[in-house]
Amino acid sequence: MRIDATALRLTLGYLVLAALWVLLSDRFLLALDLSSSHQEGLQSLKGLLFVILTAALLYTTLRRHTIRYNEKKQALSANEERLRLALEASHSGLWDMDMASQRIFFSECYTDLLGIDQATLGHTREQWATFLHPDDRERVLQKIEVSLQLPDYQNTYRMRHADGSYRWIHSRGRLLFTADGKPMRFIGVVSDITQRRTDEDSLRQAAAVFDATQEGVLVTDAKRRIVHINPAFSRITGYSRDEIIGQTPGLLKSGRHGEAFYQDIWKSLRKHGTWAGEIWNRRKSGEIYPQWQSIRVIHDTQGNISHYVAVFSDITALKRSQRELDYLAHHDPLSNLPNRLLFTERVTHALERSSTEQPGTVLLIDLDHFKHINESLGHNVGDLLLRAVGERLLKAIPSGCTLARLGGDEFGLLQDQCGEAALAAELAQQLLHSLEAPFCLDSHELYISASIGISLFPHDADSVEQVLRNADSALFKAKSSGRESFAFYEQELTDYARQRVELASSLRHAFENEELRVFYQPLHDLRDGQVVGFEALVRWQHPERGLLPPGEFIPIAEDNGMIGAIDLWVLEQACRQMVRWDQSKSGPSFVAVNVSSRLFGRGELDLRVAQVLAETGLAPAKLELEVTESAVMDDPAAALSLLTRLQALGVRLAIDDFGTGYSSLARLKRLPVHKLKLDQSFVRGLPHDSEDAAIARAVITLGHSLGLKVLAEGIEAAEQAEFLRNLGCDYGQGYHFGRPQPAAPVTARHADESNPVPPLGPLAD
Ligand code: C2E
Ligand code: MG
Ligand code: MG
Repeated sequence: MRIDATALRLTLGYLVLAALWVLLSDRFLLALDLSSSHQEGLQSLKGLLFVILTAALLYTTLRRHTIRYNEKKQALSANEERLRLALEASHSGLWDMDMASQRIFFSECYTDLLGIDQATLGHTREQWATFLHPDDRERVLQKIEVSLQLPDYQNTYRMRHADGSYRWIHSRGRLLFTADGKPMRFIGVVSDITQRRTDEDSLRQAAAVFDATQEGVLVTDAKRRIVHINPAFSRITGYSRDEIIGQTPGLLKSGRHGEAFYQDIWKSLRKHGTWAGEIWNRRKSGEIYPQWQSIRVIHDTQGNISHYVAVFSDITALKRSQRELDYLAHHDPLSNLPNRLLFTERVTHALERSSTEQPGTVLLIDLDHFKHINESLGHNVGDLLLRAVGERLLKAIPSGCTLARLGGDEFGLLQDQCGEAALAAELAQQLLHSLEAPFCLDSHELYISASIGISLFPHDADSVEQVLRNADSALFKAKSSGRESFAFYEQELTDYARQRVELASSLRHAFENEELRVFYQPLHDLRDGQVVGFEALVRWQHPERGLLPPGEFIPIAEDNGMIGAIDLWVLEQACRQMVRWDQSKSGPSFVAVNVSSRLFGRGELDLRVAQVLAETGLAPAKLELEVTESAVMDDPAAALSLLTRLQALGVRLAIDDFGTGYSSLARLKRLPVHKLKLDQSFVRGLPHDSEDAAIARAVITLGHSLGLKVLAEGIEAAEQAEFLRNLGCDYGQGYHFGRPQPAAPVTARHADESNPVPPLGPLAD
């Protein structure tokens, strides 16, 4: 037991004083020599006085002690209060473990951190450990074991909160030892660092993003000195960290923007705190490039500007692809010429700028018979040709014009300065001329012509649609007038188009109303002038417009699909007529019927022909079918098979309009045809046109060398017939011999005269 010095001192003092009192007071009484009754009375008084004195002494001592005790108690609770407040303020909890009993005290702040009460957390390490995150438990307990040998302790772990979540806890403590070095107390504080951990995580992530982002980031201080950059900044600009830190962003200026541009940026930053836009900067290499940049002002807690942060991306590639996309959207990939979209835009602008004093022109250029090239030689050759035509036309046009490929084999030309008809015609002629020379492509030598439709604006039209529609009508006119020519838009063309629509609808009733007629044109043997056959040619007896030639309605019938029915009807009529001629015994030896490429392409022609022959009772050998060169070459394999089947029926086959298509000689050789009909366009110039003469001679020689007969179409003059006969041409057809006529007069004349047509002599209509 420890002896308290103050208590001992007090006790000894009391002992001495009491002893002195007892000894001295007794002596003093004896010395007074009083009576025994007085003596006894004084003895009692003395004893009472002693008790009073000692009681006063005790009171004084106790009072002093109580005052001191209260003072100390107050100081202690003030300290405790301070400690509690400090812990509360720092959101810390206190733990205190008595090493002897292993009991742990957890402060209220501690349990508050976990949202539980002190009873739930308990007072033992085991119970406390049940609140640890299972992943942390073992590590934490081990660390505590180790720390029990060391003076300082620190640990971070997760503890379960009452709401089920886990909180990150940081614990710090100290082990206190007894005087003889034994662990006495293990005491410390904990704080919830969940938010700090989250912030740290976010910061770490932000730093990773900052480093890894593809965008360049640049941070300057308030004085615009660069204080921070990310790796992407260096990659884009070429400047390393060391080269750029401390510099100002002015180092990156490209010189492309004026001072006003930068002032606008600063104005926006002052007003809105941000700026975003496209800016051209200069890399370290000197290269100027576009970037998309956003700048933001950062303020400190006092609201003063502390930093500027700029984030930017290099949009060189984007710009390039934008340009490429724009180019693709406005150009034709095959010819690299502007496409319809760009052409229409340019025509729109030209139309806006144009006036009667400064008119403009649009020319639509369409290749003639391009389809045949595509189909006979393949799309590759077709593509090569389109490209070559584009290049040729480009060379032929004056500068300042727009040449576009509008699709397929159609090109458009815009001349916005010159809208004079005479000049436009001259230009169209130039273009046609530029296509005259052959195109040598992929070992083929190809000839192609074009038809051109011309529309003048604002003379003919005041809207783009109308300009293009007019040019289209003009083109149609050029095509109908024999191709390889140009035509201007006129109002009549529109009327013509309207008429065409009307014709198309009334053609449907032509059948029911029995308005179709078959005319017959004689085919002559050129050697003796004898009629050998008749070609059946359809006519339409239109109720209002009179007799219409096939050129007016066959294209319409081809478009609306009626051509098959018309052909079969003509076939039947012709066969019946041939049977009648046969019965009169003086008729021709065969009748020729035209077959449209559409009916031919359907493939079942042989069945139809067999049916008509059976129904009419005509001998197959008395029927000749005329198929155009292009119909045969459309699909040569199918044509070969169909012609072979037709031949097997016993009918004869002729190739019509020979020379206008693109026959492959190799294929022609294998076709079971027996006649070539030389197209009238090569007969027209005979005998004087040397080119026509050469072609006629070549076709006759070719036909004969393939074992075929040759008939020349469109013979209008005796000298043409003579010339062709001298070339060895077998047969002839044309106005010189006779025009197409209805069957009755033909029959009559034919029947009336034993030799109806004088050899090589004209037959009057
Ligand atoms: P095509 O088969 O080549 O018929 C010959 C055309 O030349 C006929 O015109 C005929 O009238 C014309 N012609 C004959 N001799 C001369 C002449 O000396 N000078 C001139 N300038 N022309 C002459 P058409 O009757 O107008 O027929 C035109 C085309 O219409 C025919 O050409 C043929 O391709 C087609 N066609 C006629 N009838 C039919 C038919 O029933 N069905 C089909 N699919 N097409 C037909
Ligand atoms: Mg014909
Ligand atoms: Mg013909």
